[in-house]
Amino acid sequence: MALGAALGVSGCGDDTVEPGEVEAGTAELGGPARGISITDVEVNQGAGVVVATAEDGWLDLEARNARLIHGRDSLVRFQVVLDDPAGWIPRSLTGVLRIEVPGQPTVVRTRDFVVEQDSDPRDLDEQFYFPLYADEALPGTKIHVELRETDASVDVSALGQGRTQVPANGEAATVGFGDVDLEMDIVIVPVHYTYFDPPRVPDITDEDLELLREGMLQQNPVQAVNITVRDEPIIYSQQITDLGTLLPMTRQARIADGAPPHVYYHAMIDVNGSAVNDVAGIAWLTGATQEDGDLRSAATVFHKRIIPADPEDPESEEVIQPPSNTVSTWVHEVGHNQGFRHVECQGATSANNDPSYPYEDGKLGIYGFGIRNFRIFAPSASHDYMSYCGNAWVSDWTWEKAHERVELLTGWGTAAPPSGPDGALTIEPSLASQREPALIGVLSVDGTETWTAMPAFPVVTPASTSALETVEFWADGALVDSAVAEVATLSDDRTRTLTVIIPPKARVSGAQGVAGGFELVRQDAQGQRRAVLLD
Ligand SMILES: [Zn+2]
Repeated sequence: MALGAALGVSGCGDDTVEPGEVEAGTAELGGPARGISITDVEVNQGAGVVVATAEDGWLDLEARNARLIHGRDSLVRFQVVLDDPAGWIPRSLTGVLRIEVPGQPTVVRTRDFVVEQDSDPRDLDEQFYFPLYADEALPGTKIHVELRETDASVDVSALGQGRTQVPANGEAATVGFGDVDLEMDIVIVPVHYTYFDPPRVPDITDEDLELLREGMLQQNPVQAVNITVRDEPIIYSQQITDLGTLLPMTRQARIADGAPPHVYYHAMIDVNGSAVNDVAGIAWLTGATQEDGDLRSAATVFHKRIIPADPEDPESEEVIQPPSNTVSTWVHEVGHNQGFRHVECQGATSANNDPSYPYEDGKLGIYGFGIRNFRIFAPSASHDYMSYCGNAWVSDWTWEKAHERVELLTGWGTAAPPSGPDGALTIEPSLASQREPALIGVLSVDGTETWTAMPAFPVVTPASTSALETVEFWADGALVDSAVAEVATLSDDRTRTLTVIIPPKARVSGAQGVAGGFELVRQDAQGQRRAVLLD
């Protein structure tokens, strides 16, 4: 559905005129609306950005709560307040948005509306709003809004003259759409879960893919979200008890594909339920470097609720619901891959919360808007999507953090050639050559450990290593070498991963694999020693 159609903006309110010409569609209107004033003007691409207030007029970019981006559908809206509610004459007024795109004819959009009271920013039906389309959202685009009497014959001479134009001088002002290209590239890795007979494979339809794409698009400052589904699935044959055990496998797929550092890999598994031991998604908290590329891996349970047919009613049919919770989870898990920690909210049990979140109780703090689902999310009734609380949406705080990360990664994506000679994804040779043979262990909350041998980047941040966790390599009763583990806690705040670069003396290739022939012993922070068994 197009933004304009969904917002009830008809073609007749969308006239194009040459600059300086009388604006078609507004010529027959009455004069400036009387007895009423425009307050805030907001441009909303997901997280609302107030561009003008009654007190401060048009706001400079530095004075704004968040950035706007070019090439993205946007909602423009303004709120109104009655100068004197007791003396108000309820009647139709016409809101007018004038859009001046450099090098293009001026566009005028109007919306009529019977005004009975102050507008309610929580309710699109109770205010003046307009679409501004992606191809109109350019760095030089200017807008002007005004409020006119719809019917010139209504006598409103008893009402005073309020603030009915923004900017007040009648000239359009620069919206402030940025000039940065922002995209996300995500590869979905389906899991063939062969523990079940027949094996379960996530049934991701084109509609489901579109929901996943829109979910990510709506809550990230991007022009595009590019999703591909990997042809070759991951095979998982054991009963899965910790979703985190999928992460090394997803990372392995990522390495095998030679994916560039900016690409996200995301496993999707159907476990015939909504979660694995109450965990619906899991991810590494990923840093902002290219060397962290392998950690742009996550896993989400793909689940569509099935409502069975009513056995009493022969007419009824089984209903498969859209994977709404999966969409929310995957946005949240990719958020962890973007480096975001949790946001605390009342009554929820998230750990590793980010103390710098600015709004109380994980609330949104601003108005959210879905450019595809056309929903308004109120500042005090919605929570940031990195919280565990309901009615989740993107706050302006998370929007800004995402902007930083997406801008950085998009820069890598465009700087490096995206594909090799056969169309396969390639990695910068300088990065690939830094990979060393490694052991990666997933330490589940139930005490089980899953260890896999795979290449990894050498530990680059000393702060992330723990001298307390080591793995020793023994042969014939003698200690050959030991290595310090890089420790990470996954996004469920309980599963840990240990990464150990295999010391050169312990690198034996051959039938037994890269660490073959050695006895491996892990010594943990408490000094406990236990054997490490490779998968
Ligand atoms: Zn989380």
